[in-house]
Amino acid sequence: MNFVIPKSERELKNEFSDDKCVLMAGGTDLLVKMRLGRIKPEKIISTLKIPTLHALGFDGDRITIGANVTYSELLDFKPIKEEFPILYDAILTVGSPQIRNRATLVGNIVNASPAGDGLLALYLLDASVELSDGKSYAISDFITGPGKIMLDQRQYVKNVFIQKSEWTHRYFEKVGQRTSMTISIASMGILLRLDGKRIDDMRLAFGSVGPTVLRMYEVETFAKGKDLNEKLLDEMSSMVFEKVKPIDDVRGSADYRRRLCRNLIYRMTEFL
Ligand SMILES: Cc1cc2nc3c(=O)[nH]c(=O)nc-3n(C[C@H](O)[C@H](O)[C@H](O)COP(=O)(O)OP(=O)(O)OC[C@H]3O[C@@H](n4cnc5c(N)ncnc54)[C@H](O)[C@@H]3O)c2cc1C
Repeated sequence: MNFVIPKSERELKNEFSDDKCVLMAGGTDLLVKMRLGRIKPEKIISTLKIPTLHALGFDGDRITIGANVTYSELLDFKPIKEEFPILYDAILTVGSPQIRNRATLVGNIVNASPAGDGLLALYLLDASVELSDGKSYAISDFITGPGKIMLDQRQYVKNVFIQKSEWTHRYFEKVGQRTSMTISIASMGILLRLDGKRIDDMRLAFGSVGPTVLRMYEVETFAKGKDLNEKLLDEMSSMVFEKVKPIDDVRGSADYRRRLCRNLIYRMTEFL
């Protein structure tokens, strides 16, 4: 097996010689898959020495996150905590400091797991993904199923963009078998703009309970314009119970996950 470290995107493109090569950023998903024998690449191309894939900037309106940017770099970047705190909350739960020092948000996107913690925040924030050929996709269009994305063999992800949006309240929770170094059994993220008791706007998403992260668009539309009260939470909770699509696996049964999501909605009680 070859391991190559191109220093520019031009060199990277030249290395994309055949179907048996894969890109590697932090390697925290890729190397696990290789070790389990799920993939057997003949060539690994590291992206880490390519400076143009390391953009990280905020222009007051939009944040740009390059493919090589690690979670630790994001956590240290002030605008993440100040302007996109739901992303900060979510990525703080990823693995351990060692994992966050290596792993990238783009790796989380390309891995396309419904349990991806960074992904959940990106769905909530309506992020978009820019590819090497200039095409860009909304995150929910880019990911089409578990591990399935809109990427051809010779394309790669360059940047993630997130437009700033205003929210008065936020909530993120990841329920796992332990408190750290855990994959979620279910996770929930909420962005809320309250005007007094009235819900001006809301975004709601769940992880690990469907083939992709699930944005609850119907629940969002239902809640908008209504007063946030116990009756509304009961109604939203019943809708969520019907709309999540969990499966049984080693971490939890579908039934447990569905009940968990129904109950997680009541975390909004703290905003009443
Ligand atoms: C111990 C441990 C704990 C973990 N905990 C969590 C957790 O709590 N939450 C969570 O969500 N995840 C967790 N993960 C999974 C993993 O760390 C994340 O998904 C991480 O974001 C992957 O990033 P990476 O840079 O390591 O990706 P890599 O492993 O380098 O790559 C992942 C995939 O992306 C592809 N790729 C990389 N860069 C590009 C590019 N520029 N363009 C196109 N394709 C590209 C690779 O070919 C590969 O298919 C954990 C992993 C480990 C080993």
